[in-house]
Amino acid sequence: MMHTTINIADLTVYYRDSLALDRVSASIQKGELLAVIGPNGAGKSTLIKSIMQQLKPSCGCVELAGVNPKSIAYLPQSHQIDRKFPISVREFVSAGAWKRTGFWRQFCCLEERDLEQALEKVNLKGFEERQINTLSGGQFQRVLFARMLMQDADILLLDEPFNAIDAQTTEELMEVINHCQQAGKTVIAVVHDLLLVQRFFPNTMLLATQLIAHGKTETVMTVENLAKAGYQYWNQAVSNNQNHENKHADVTPNVADSLNALNVYPIADAHMTRMEKVSEVSIKEVRVRTTYDS
Ligand code: ADP
Repeated sequence: MMHTTINIADLTVYYRDSLALDRVSASIQKGELLAVIGPNGAGKSTLIKSIMQQLKPSCGCVELAGVNPKSIAYLPQSHQIDRKFPISVREFVSAGAWKRTGFWRQFCCLEERDLEQALEKVNLKGFEERQINTLSGGQFQRVLFARMLMQDADILLLDEPFNAIDAQTTEELMEVINHCQQAGKTVIAVVHDLLLVQRFFPNTMLLATQLIAHGKTETVMTVENLAKAGYQYWNQAVSNNQNHENKHADVTPNVADSLNALNVYPIADAHMTRMEKVSEVSIKEVRVRTTYDS
């Protein structure tokens, strides 16, 4: 039986006069792998911060059932981190364990082993002494993941973990996320790429200030729900794609409908190698336009 980990009840958050979340209610189960989607300004980051208890709701609450707030790890958007600070990969990743070890305590050999394992999981072995300002965007994202793994938290909150990184890094980091979920962790990630959500996330929450839908990805990502959330779309790269016929034969009907309407072309795994370039172009060139009703 699944146990509720996070109970969001009537959550309403204002920034001064600006409404960011409007009476959102949802239960997130222990061990869930959940994508949070919605157009820009939909309240996704506000939801993540509310779960972290960083924001005081104007109304409603977020209850963490049987969760020690220390056991929540947060992966911020990478641009929020000042990488000019002179610090090595080893030092930066080790900081993930501070919640467990305390700031001043020396690392013991167990934690040294955790550090090595974390770097190995994100394919960054040998990078220990590199300064973080010398890393590429994808390498730095791996470092952020390693730091999160060091925290060994029960709930992982990831804010746009795949923003501006290449397909290879995305695939590898998605594998890290899958392992975390298989180890019983609850994973909640803000994701912009709807194809990625469709491929990897069993559950999805669709926000547009209000909660539009929450549940199994195929029932949430319908044309109606996406339109209700304010998604409008087009894809200029489709003319490159010769595989127009049956392009969604491998996905469930609702998601296929949504993606057809989105004019987005998911590439079946079997076609991945041959079509990888097209797939990358297609995904990158999806535009999401948000309409705001005042
Ligand atoms: P998303 O993550 O979906 O893009 P956010 O949660 O960041 O959305 O923002 C939701 C709304 O709240 C937006 O209209 C945004 O402009 C506003 N907002 C977010 N943070 C602040 C802030 N610190 N001060 C004022 N308004 C904010």
